[in-house]
Amino acid sequence: MEQRESGIFPLEDALEMVLFFDSSGVISYGNRIAQEKLEYGDDLQGTPISEIFPNTFRIEADQVVSEVSFGAEVHKLTAYRRNLTCFPVEARILCSRDCPGMYICMANDIIEKEFLNKEIEQVKSEAEEALKVKSEFVANVTHELRTPVNGILGNVRELLSEGAAGELEPSLRLIERCCGDMNKIINNILDFSKLEAGKFTLEPRKFHFRNMLDYVKSNHSNKITEKGLDFFVTVSPQIPEYIIADELRIVQVLGNLLSNAQKFTSIGKITLEAVQTARVNDKIELFFMVKDTGIGIDEKDKEKLFQSFSQVDASISRKYGGTGLGLNICKQLVELMGGKIGVESEKNRGSIFSFSIWAGITEEEAKAPAVQPVFDSFAAAGDMEEEKLFDARTYGTPENLSALKKNLSKLILCVEMKNWEKAEMFMETVKQLTQGAPREIGRVVLRLKMAIQKENYDKITAEFKELDHFLQ
Ligand code: ADP
Repeated sequence: MEQRESGIFPLEDALEMVLFFDSSGVISYGNRIAQEKLEYGDDLQGTPISEIFPNTFRIEADQVVSEVSFGAEVHKLTAYRRNLTCFPVEARILCSRDCPGMYICMANDIIEKEFLNKEIEQVKSEAEEALKVKSEFVANVTHELRTPVNGILGNVRELLSEGAAGELEPSLRLIERCCGDMNKIINNILDFSKLEAGKFTLEPRKFHFRNMLDYVKSNHSNKITEKGLDFFVTVSPQIPEYIIADELRIVQVLGNLLSNAQKFTSIGKITLEAVQTARVNDKIELFFMVKDTGIGIDEKDKEKLFQSFSQVDASISRKYGGTGLGLNICKQLVELMGGKIGVESEKNRGSIFSFSIWAGITEEEAKAPAVQPVFDSFAAAGDMEEEKLFDARTYGTPENLSALKKNLSKLILCVEMKNWEKAEMFMETVKQLTQGAPREIGRVVLRLKMAIQKENYDKITAEFKELDHFLQ
């Protein structure tokens, strides 16, 4: 043993157990760790290998017989201590090249590894179970919520369509809108939980690309133009008439980005652009941009935008509402469609949300020679226009005064029509446009805002006159 330790076999301090045995199965050397683990002393030498690994070796007619192959292969074996308790090992058994009839068994105790593996397995299965329970719970609750919401919505719509609402019509319209918003939130939570649980599947099919964009446009143009914003949609002529993709999900992502653009923009315009950026065999890459001239996003906040439940700050969620789920869902959907989503933005100067996806093309389209993508000049919105918008936000410039007048006249029209919600929206824009105005104007704006909130018509008219006087 001494000789092996100090000479050609420096194995005494090896981290794994090393056992030498001969063709009759008798151990001729066991290093320190083997003695410790197997709870033998020097008497390990002379012990049959079949006592240490009774399930693997047996001695027949003074010859060792092995159940496992000799060589580099790693086997999972059970090693027995002197007191007959056992533990799992990973072992390799080799024949000595220099000394025929001599074998080496190198074994690692894997009891800790096995224990940790079991723990990991258990934690994993518990987590999977918890996720399953959670998504089932979310699916059930959202389904249960949807039923009464749709019940309310149905009844309200019936009352409205019968024309029997009378004085109650504004309240019923409000209930109708609230139910619509509630349904949007429920759908977002459902999508989010499905995506999180990896249960979301895309449903690609052939559809008319421009019709899809027209649908998106018509869904949003009213809300955008009602706010006094311009809305442009442009499509690169290169995009085929029909593509194969999940139309519903593209509409959902575009819808979310456009709703955000409209929500966070009070002056200027919103643009939606679509181009084809690449083609590989029967697949094309499409690139979409939703550009607004709204409140913009701080550099430091950009990273957290796409995380779930993330809103830039609490004041934004109070002022504009929302769950902070929309962009996270968009990101997951875009990634499922093989693309990426990103944002470029500057505080108070607007934002550009863009994403790419891969879509299939029809057989006829695939046969046609690929045309090199022509990039439309996206950023050609023009610095001049950007500057004009910036001036409109700076109190006292001619652009600012004209935007103020435009918004005030819309505001008063909403008041006349008792459309308080829209009046509040225009009031918000007026407030933004008078930031930096002399203090007396600021005070009138504040009083006007309060009067609108209280729906006090006389007070509104008085404050409005005063404001108009200042602006003249
Ligand atoms: P929410 O449903 O709350 O709007 P989103 O995930 O769609 O959730 O958006 C998260 C946050 O990102 C918003 O609360 C807002 O702070 C910011 N954000 C999104 N789009 C815009 C935009 N066009 N302009 C400015 N901020 C935006």
